[in-house]
Amino acid sequence: MTTPNFKKFNIEAYKPGKSKVKRLKKVIKLSANESALGMSPKAKRIISNKKLVLDKYPDGKSQNLRKAISNAYKCNPEKVICGAGSDEVIQMICQLFLNPKDEVVLPEYSFLMYRIYSKIVGAKVIFAKESNFKVSVKDILKKITKKTKIVFIANPNNPTGTYLTKKELLGLRKRLNKKILLVIDDAYAEYMKNKDYSSGLDLFKNKNNVFILRTFSKMFGLASLRVGWGYGSKKIVYALNVIKPPFNVNGIAQLAAAESLKDKKFINKSIKHNLFYARNIKKFLERYNIYSNSVSANFLLLNFEKCKYSAKYLYEKLKKKGIILRSTEDGYHIKNKLRLTIGSKKENLKFMSTVKQVLKK
Ligand SMILES: *Cc1c(COP(=O)(O)O)cnc(C)c1O
Repeated sequence: MTTPNFKKFNIEAYKPGKSKVKRLKKVIKLSANESALGMSPKAKRIISNKKLVLDKYPDGKSQNLRKAISNAYKCNPEKVICGAGSDEVIQMICQLFLNPKDEVVLPEYSFLMYRIYSKIVGAKVIFAKESNFKVSVKDILKKITKKTKIVFIANPNNPTGTYLTKKELLGLRKRLNKKILLVIDDAYAEYMKNKDYSSGLDLFKNKNNVFILRTFSKMFGLASLRVGWGYGSKKIVYALNVIKPPFNVNGIAQLAAAESLKDKKFINKSIKHNLFYARNIKKFLERYNIYSNSVSANFLLLNFEKCKYSAKYLYEKLKKKGIILRSTEDGYHIKNKLRLTIGSKKENLKFMSTVKQVLKK
């Protein structure tokens, strides 16, 4: 029987952080940067108590959610577009801006979805070198040509955990051709307490040539509901609404996301928890000569260069004991490193005691 022809893409499919180990029922998943504390109790309460109407389509414009976002972040609801995860917003941006043969400039270790969606619409992906696993503004500017349409940056970046300072970001926008869209992915902004950091949203709210990405999947703990948002000029958001799938964000997601923004107590608790354990785990691992980026988001990129064991060795040993980290070889092609998500108190303590057991000094 004949299968009709379809397009062929030269793309490595996205491989998410693993969540299962053969023959183990219970695992500790520290591989996908999900929230250590789950979702906000307020969000949980509203989706379990409210009589949910699921037989009707959701609000295609996510109006209540956009209003809640504009209140929480002091921004204009008309410049917000919601997506089924920020993932979908990345996809829509690529569809809106990129023609075949257009160029997109990405830092070499940037989040994988930028290259995937760019290639799907036929654009050419150009990688800018990083310096010591940090985005290099200089190299990005070097890679710009007349064909460049978009520069994507996650700040802080996943999986490297490094970030451009406020000054560096402003410098990039200033020196980048005005006609090029700068997309700043603030996926981890809520966790950031570093003094020299400013989120893309805080810096560029009023810039028509910057587009911001935000998500409810990380600190807000709603990864499974798939909800995120983009923020940009009215013109861009209007055009995105034309190509947007009509009911892209489901009703439960809209409700939970709006509610979670109001839960200041949970937000502060999450930030504190993350800082405390990220610092502790970083220090703990240094005893084994495993070093990492300075604390930023809710994950650490562990470097095994100076350790007498390899990343792969620890990865396999932990996996056998039901603790899953993210290999950075899949997709990112970063050797001898692992990405570790900060977990709950119980998970973190178990992680540390298991490392101690496995890497006897
Ligand atoms: C996790 C992550 C996202 C994805 O978020 P969704 O809203 O779940 O699609 C986007 N960008 C970066 C940098 C991430 O790490």
